[in-house]
Amino acid sequence: MGPAVNEDTANIERAFAGPELAAPLAAEIRRVAARIPGELRLMEVCGTHTVSIFRHGIRSLLPDNVRLLSGPGCPVCVTPTGHIDLIVQAARRDRVIIATFGDMLRVPGSFGSLAEARARGEAEAAIVYSPMDALELARQRPEAEIVFPGVGFETTAPTVAATILAAERQNIQNFSVIALAKTMPGVLERLLADPDLALSGLLCPGHVSAVIGAAAWRPVAEKFHLSCAVAGFEAADILAGILALVRQAAEGRAAVDNCYPRAVSEAGSARAQALLAQVFEPADSDWRGLGTIPASGLAIREQYARFDAVRRFGLTAASVPEPPGCRCGDILKGKLQPPDCPLFGRACSPLNPVGPCMVSGEGACAAWHRYGGAQQKIS
Ligand code: SF4
Repeated sequence: MGPAVNEDTANIERAFAGPELAAPLAAEIRRVAARIPGELRLMEVCGTHTVSIFRHGIRSLLPDNVRLLSGPGCPVCVTPTGHIDLIVQAARRDRVIIATFGDMLRVPGSFGSLAEARARGEAEAAIVYSPMDALELARQRPEAEIVFPGVGFETTAPTVAATILAAERQNIQNFSVIALAKTMPGVLERLLADPDLALSGLLCPGHVSAVIGAAAWRPVAEKFHLSCAVAGFEAADILAGILALVRQAAEGRAAVDNCYPRAVSEAGSARAQALLAQVFEPADSDWRGLGTIPASGLAIREQYARFDAVRRFGLTAASVPEPPGCRCGDILKGKLQPPDCPLFGRACSPLNPVGPCMVSGEGACAAWHRYGGAQQKIS
């Protein structure tokens, strides 16, 4: 029965990616938006949405008065330079191997990237595809200290929590995590407090919402009288979310519409939430471009302190200025589009990135660079 479920899931996802569902949704967006005076400024909160919007050419389907802005939901992009330095600092310790996702290897810190430190022979790093891979590496290399940089949001943090619990169960002594995970709704409150942003609606991330539940966005909708729509990642999912936001604007409503019910429930995943609560506790967190936001990060609880690389190796994070000329902070706040950065495509490119938004596979600058401006309306 297992493979059949997977095939069914794949078929459903293919249906949501195809034009049969997408074309009528795009037509309906244009019809409803025509009734709205002025411009609608909608923020796609997460980097996965940003990339999917480019891949499917969604902007080219939208009317002129519906504008999409990228937000602070690319985990690598919002990790500030001081935290990249923390990872490089750990990597330089004797016997430490940083086991990390590929993107993190190339993000520039004040002393260069982890990849550059590795090339100079100052650090050892391995690419892994999950925290459990890092734990497996710890099992295979008992003579080394394996450190996993736990960058991400509520989407990936439960798997990091599950890995720490597995390490404890298996009594693995040489595995630890730099806890850099951030949590979602709080950062939006910081962003929305800026009246210059003048947002009309939020396209809320489907994967984060699968963990925290659609209801978690309700305080944002109510406090800021802002339309919210939870959306998946295929073309029809995104268009359905945009249509929900356009309809709310036309009706003067500010609610949370769950347009991804095949994955997101009202209350979210109780199991994932329990894992997070068992291993982590809320902590203040530094965000690139946004500063310190209270209780917007996840710190490892005292009970699991031996898996906390910061405590284990006495690492200290410093507040470090962003790379000169890089506008990632403004891009993450939706105040600037990547082509407006003077370095975009000149001094900064995927081969020679200045900031993380050009490195990450979910970064807005990388997406603009990869897919080009031809299909995108820049207003
Ligand atoms: Fe930073 Fe490069 Fe993006 Fe400019 S184009 S904001 S320098 S990552």
